[in-house]
Amino acid sequence: MDTYDVIIIGAGPAGLTSALYLKRANKKVLILEAKNYGGQIINANKIENYPGIEEISGFTFATNLYNQVKKLGAEIKYETVIRVEADKTVITNNNKYQAKAIIIATGSENEKLHLPNEEKYMGKGISYCATCDGNFYKDKVVIVNGGGNTALEDTLYLANIASKVYLIHRRDTFRGDIKYLDEIKKYQNIEVILNSSITAIKGQDKLEKVTIKDIFGNEKDIITDGLFIAIGQEPHNEIFKNIVDLNEKGYIISVDEVHTKTAGIYVAGDTREKDLRQLTTAVSDGSIAATIAIKEMKGND
Ligand code: NAP
Repeated sequence: MDTYDVIIIGAGPAGLTSALYLKRANKKVLILEAKNYGGQIINANKIENYPGIEEISGFTFATNLYNQVKKLGAEIKYETVIRVEADKTVITNNNKYQAKAIIIATGSENEKLHLPNEEKYMGKGISYCATCDGNFYKDKVVIVNGGGNTALEDTLYLANIASKVYLIHRRDTFRGDIKYLDEIKKYQNIEVILNSSITAIKGQDKLEKVTIKDIFGNEKDIITDGLFIAIGQEPHNEIFKNIVDLNEKGYIISVDEVHTKTAGIYVAGDTREKDLRQLTTAVSDGSIAATIAIKEMKGND
């Protein structure tokens, strides 16, 4: 069985930052990633709130960080973790590994509306990533659903590609930043529909229309080519239930920032229960988890 000082689960900003700190401390590190490096940030069109960097694309940021970590000699394997034992054994779909410490940095995934046809029309009109799929909707009609920064950013991004963008939000106030709302007001081809939820997704072989229902119970159909769902994220931590505590939303509960209830198993980034999920807090968690792991490994050696 291959052994490491630290195994990091997840190659998003938190996990990669942990790897950066661990490699600089000369530790043997394995990063296990089920999908692609970069996590959610790789899909961000523009990052404008990372201190010291005025503007950068999510893809460039993630790729720079990934290359920085690779250059330092961190090993990255694209395998899906199936189980982690309290003794720091990690079982994946391909292998079994042993570590002295583990950092869980699995982030979160796009939340679904959980409506019939949602899964069926994924890639056939339904998307969770405007920067990935927006170009397929040149001069077409699209809907963005949500009221956070992702939805507002997606709306602006798509308004420069599509002929018309409906922004549908379930309340009358937005969570997203005012600067995006001010920008949205400048676009003739954006129509904002408030106090309304999507209740049905309809079509024959692909998405053709959605039904929306307002808070007074009025329903109507909107004909559309695309639906971009931007209603937040959900974590997937069920496989770690034997070693960590989860809150009611499935986020990992931490003690003293990044400790879990199991000694030597740490949590970093969006998958941790916390108030603010941002790039800055993800890299903060990653660096803290790595630094504490190094300190506590030393104590145990
Ligand atoms: P978010 O801030 O959690 O917003 C999710 C939105 O979706 C909320 O407006 C919520 O409505 C709505 N929603 C949730 N469940 C829904 C449902 N079942 N049906 C309809 N609407 C639903 O998520 P996010 O926009 O993905 O942002 C996540 C984090 O990343 C935030 O901290 C955000 O600031 C950050 N972010 C930053 C940037 C940037 O700085 N450039 C870009 C993107 C995201 P309610 O408001 O009614 O709850």
